[in-house]
Amino acid sequence: MSEPDGSRRTALLTVDDDPGVSRAVARDLRRRYGARYRVVRAESGQDGLDALREMKLRGDLVAVVLADYRMPRMNGIEFLERAMDVYPGARRVLLTAYADTGAAIDAINVVDLDHYLLKPWDPPEEKLYPVLDDLLESWHCSDHRPVPETKVVGHRWSARSSGVREFLARNQVPYRWYLSDQPEGRRLLTAAGQDGLRLPLVIAPGGEVLVEPSDQDLAARVGLSTTPAEDFYDLVVIGAGPAGLGAAVYGASEGLRTVLVERTATGGQAGQSARIENYLGFPDGVSGAQLTDRARRQATRFGAEMLTACEVTALEVDGPARTVRFADGSAVAAQSVILTTGVAYRQLDVPGLADLTGRGVYYGSALTEAAGCEDLDVYIVGGANSAGQAAVHLSKHAKSVTLLVRGDSLEASMSHYLVQQIAGIPSIRVRTGTQVTGAQGDGHLEGLALRETAGGGTELVDAQRLFVFIGAAPRTDWLDGTVLRDDHGFVLTGPDLTTEGRLPAGWEPDRLPYHLETSVPGVFAAGDVRAESAKRVASAVGEGAMAVMLVHRYLEGLP
Ligand SMILES: Cc1cc2nc3c(=O)[nH]c(=O)nc-3n(C[C@H](O)[C@H](O)[C@H](O)COP(=O)(O)OP(=O)(O)OC[C@H]3O[C@@H](n4cnc5c(N)ncnc54)[C@H](O)[C@@H]3O)c2cc1C
Repeated sequence: MSEPDGSRRTALLTVDDDPGVSRAVARDLRRRYGARYRVVRAESGQDGLDALREMKLRGDLVAVVLADYRMPRMNGIEFLERAMDVYPGARRVLLTAYADTGAAIDAINVVDLDHYLLKPWDPPEEKLYPVLDDLLESWHCSDHRPVPETKVVGHRWSARSSGVREFLARNQVPYRWYLSDQPEGRRLLTAAGQDGLRLPLVIAPGGEVLVEPSDQDLAARVGLSTTPAEDFYDLVVIGAGPAGLGAAVYGASEGLRTVLVERTATGGQAGQSARIENYLGFPDGVSGAQLTDRARRQATRFGAEMLTACEVTALEVDGPARTVRFADGSAVAAQSVILTTGVAYRQLDVPGLADLTGRGVYYGSALTEAAGCEDLDVYIVGGANSAGQAAVHLSKHAKSVTLLVRGDSLEASMSHYLVQQIAGIPSIRVRTGTQVTGAQGDGHLEGLALRETAGGGTELVDAQRLFVFIGAAPRTDWLDGTVLRDDHGFVLTGPDLTTEGRLPAGWEPDRLPYHLETSVPGVFAAGDVRAESAKRVASAVGEGAMAVMLVHRYLEGLP
């Protein structure tokens, strides 16, 4: 029925139940328009609708729909009416016999018909093409931008819809977001045969429909790798933030068979930064997304393998082999491992907040949610650089931004350049000595309870968005019993492993641990996950590179 031709996506659809007429119409259309449009032919109203839905899911454009009036089961007017639900912008043409012109004229109002054509239309140069030329010209003048990218249909206040968007955005997969209660969202749901009770719905660029997908499903369908190509590597790097990306670039470029394994999205915390101003070599700042994109391309170019949506849940040591186990039970082994799992946002423990997470309350997703803050009063909790950057970024979208800081001043916790930037933006208000004590809302955030730290009553404010940036903690429980960590869960390395000159129990090599080496020989740690690390992009990248140098040293020492 359709002609798969990726280069000419805009279609002209013709529906006629008489195969001879149908072929003749398609032939005439192809003769004049075949070079620029895809001509799709269907022989019943139902087939025509199926073709339209398929094209809708693929993100194809349909410029004109021509339907014969006299068709059994679904006549041309009924078909065009239903076609309007799928492609409201397509021009509609009814093909009629002379006897049916009355019906055609009535249809002008029913289905907002653009034209009716009397059959037969020989010669097409006189009767068919001038009409279609006009219709195509008017269609081209209207707004119908192609949307070949991934589409997400979801509910404004659904935590999983928000999670899916964040996953796609952070993995730099272009997508378009449709609210399920808006006309185009409804049209996509109908085209996918869904009633909208199970959301989000994701439509992959090829038209494949995913209902409530997991991150793994999503990753696989949008072209991200989720399973290792080999069983054994020289180096497994766990966590694709700046430290992991740095390690992957240096590992792969120096000839190590390297795989980089990431739970969520490459870039880590830095990937969520609206603008990193203090990273060497970027005097005008660089967005986390840009830096991540460059680093990822660089690592890939050197031959590092990158896996996404792969959470590591265990590290096993068996002689010289280091086995890294994933959440789905599968595993990959290597001679050496670099832990670069960084830190994850700390949750704000306030009554009512947990249920509203992803429904107006967000942890560090200021970039993804910014566009949805148009004309809203937005609140941010936190006084460090990440909160400051979010405030600056959100102020470009929101009506007002209120920064809630527990301490007495911003200066104590935020870089000077950011404090100055914030002072220069009139729509940002800083409330020091203030904390959130409660949140309320029916299905989504509607209000916050605020209290002055120094005492005093509780103030209730209307709020539709709250972004929380209150520091972060390592999530390293899965290393229990394998790798030594400090009381906060940060991984101990090198000199920090020795207490009063004594090496950690079980340390076998007749040498001291290398500088970034953990209590397990051949397993290194770099970046924010490491105890006493600097918690900066530059230091994370530097440690990633340095860890690779130490991996070489370790490998050279192996028997
Ligand atoms: C909003 C924001 C703005 C910032 N701005 C700046 C700035 O301007 N300048 C600056 O120098 N620093 C800034 N920082 C700090 C900087 O981003 C971090 O110091 C840096 O990202 C640390 O890098 P990392 O690779 O050690 O860890 P992370 O960036 O935390 O990356 C760790 C990665 O490991 C993954 N991971 C964790 N556990 C697992 C697991 N079990 N399996 C698989 N993967 C896992 C995570 O998903 C994550 O992607 C900012 C931080 C934030 C949050």
